Amino acid sequence: MEVRRKVQGFGSAAAVPQPLPRAGGARVQAGDALPLPIRHTNLIFSALFAASLAYLMRRWREKIRSSTPLHVVGLAEMLAIFGLIASLIYLLSFFGIAFVQSIVSSSDEDEDFLVGSGPAGAAPAPVPAPCALLGSPASAPEQMPDEDEEIVASVVAGKIPSYVLETRLGDCRRAAGIRREAVRRITGRQIEGLPLDGFDYASILGQCCELPVGYVQLPVGIAGPLLLDGQRFYVPMATTEGCLVASTNRGCKAIAESGGATSVVLRDGMTRAPVARLPTARRAAELKAFLEDPANFDTLSMVFNRSSRFARLQGVQCAMAGRNLFMRFSCSTGDAMGMNMVSKGVQNVLDFLHDDFPDMDVISISGNFCSDKKAAAVNWIEGRGKSVVCEAVIKEEVVKKVLKTNVQSLVELNTIKNLAGSAIAGALGGFNAHASNIVTAIFIATGQDPAQNVESSHCITMLEPVNDGKDLHISVTMPSIEVGTVGGGTQLASQAACLDLLSVKGANRDSPGSNARLLATVVAGGVLAGELSLLSALAAGQLVKSHMKYNRSIKDMSKAASQSEILIIAEEMDKSRK
Ligand code: ADP
Repeated sequence: MEVRRKVQGFGSAAAVPQPLPRAGGARVQAGDALPLPIRHTNLIFSALFAASLAYLMRRWREKIRSSTPLHVVGLAEMLAIFGLIASLIYLLSFFGIAFVQSIVSSSDEDEDFLVGSGPAGAAPAPVPAPCALLGSPASAPEQMPDEDEEIVASVVAGKIPSYVLETRLGDCRRAAGIRREAVRRITGRQIEGLPLDGFDYASILGQCCELPVGYVQLPVGIAGPLLLDGQRFYVPMATTEGCLVASTNRGCKAIAESGGATSVVLRDGMTRAPVARLPTARRAAELKAFLEDPANFDTLSMVFNRSSRFARLQGVQCAMAGRNLFMRFSCSTGDAMGMNMVSKGVQNVLDFLHDDFPDMDVISISGNFCSDKKAAAVNWIEGRGKSVVCEAVIKEEVVKKVLKTNVQSLVELNTIKNLAGSAIAGALGGFNAHASNIVTAIFIATGQDPAQNVESSHCITMLEPVNDGKDLHISVTMPSIEVGTVGGGTQLASQAACLDLLSVKGANRDSPGSNARLLATVVAGGVLAGELSLLSALAAGQLVKSHMKYNRSIKDMSKAASQSEILIIAEEMDKSRK
């Protein structure tokens, strides 16, 4: 561990050693015996112990040989005996207590880090006393190297801003450990359950997460194979919602046994809509006409496309509110989800427009007509990201054997629940049973922006009887699936592994954009499977029975409405296994 490395470039606050504050009274430890670093104090007492012992042994041997009584001691011997006892007391109180505590207290890997474990076979590291700052006898403060102790103290005292740690230390793991300890001391909260080690903090620096103190663990399950457009996909889903993966898996099975699903990408374009105020509504209308005039498109796209070799302007759609003009730019973004790319292109165009419209006052690069991470009709109607339709014909016998229901019940349920029910609820893009469950789980597993599940989950699920009413046609139409396979969280190790599982990791060199589009179809295929399975479970009317079996109390049912709809699947699957 590099934790003892000298701090480079730290300010004066770190250069001057400062004692750590000890709220609630200082607890003196053996290491505090001398006003020196613990390492030096240990060294001095060990040397004293060895020297005193060696001297006394030599003296006693001489006395035995010369038949001098042992109890006749001179000044030097008295000093040696005193030194021996003092160093013994010190060493026992330091290492002895640590040794006993290491036996009586169970430790995990985090605790190992907290006490600064050394190499195997080394003397046991000093175990810190309960931290008075935390006020809890169970809490064990991190025994950090002296340099890090100083930095933690400075962060706690507000002398060093926590956000500069990575830059100043040049060691992201160490910075996270110091920040974590400072947070622990400031809040008095234990965060041992939040792991620190086992994560590459350098990989998130400057692009994924600031001020890290650890990482949250999420299980990833695999649903599949999902037979989609002739390919088999094993779909990674990160979730803590029981039965969700099982449910999607059952849907995949029904799709595969019916010959698979097919998908089509209707459009692919990320949007950004700046808002500008003009002196009058008439003037705003002039700018609108300019932007929407096909004769100006080539000029605008030339300016826009300078932002990236992958950004290609597709169009501009304008809306007005008085003298405010909202300009919704849409562009293809290759394999990137594209928010950065489209924003840069929009900025290029705004700068360009200033020549002809110097009276244009740009209020914001984003005027919410985009519309990012908010439920909005514009995305539902016009689409954002990838607009995908996915469909399958489920055979009568599969509906019966795998889904344990019948076509007529499914069609009726879908009409009443997903269409009429959602209309009654005033839903916006919510004409489905649980599209967002599958969307969010795949988003988290593959490093997408989970906040974009809002519009990415917009979905209308349609069910119809086909082939003389024997088989079931099911489709999901999702106009705003916002995914990428480069940029953002997609390059992190775990997320990249999940993308790799789907064969869509990174940029597609031969056909830029096709990896991201393929990922969008997998999302839609997963939703198709999830819809099929949950609707079937509901149609089979097993909801309450399933809850009873899986030991959900009746009290819990009301608060776990969506989860409860999932739990039934487990019962269905149990039955199908028997
Ligand atoms: P976003 O626009 O989704 O926020 P970034 O700003 O990280 O994502 O842009 C993606 C980056 O990846 C850009 O720098 C782009 O040049 C690069 N890149 C490499 N290959 C591709 C590709 N096939 N499609 C899109 N971007 C790519």
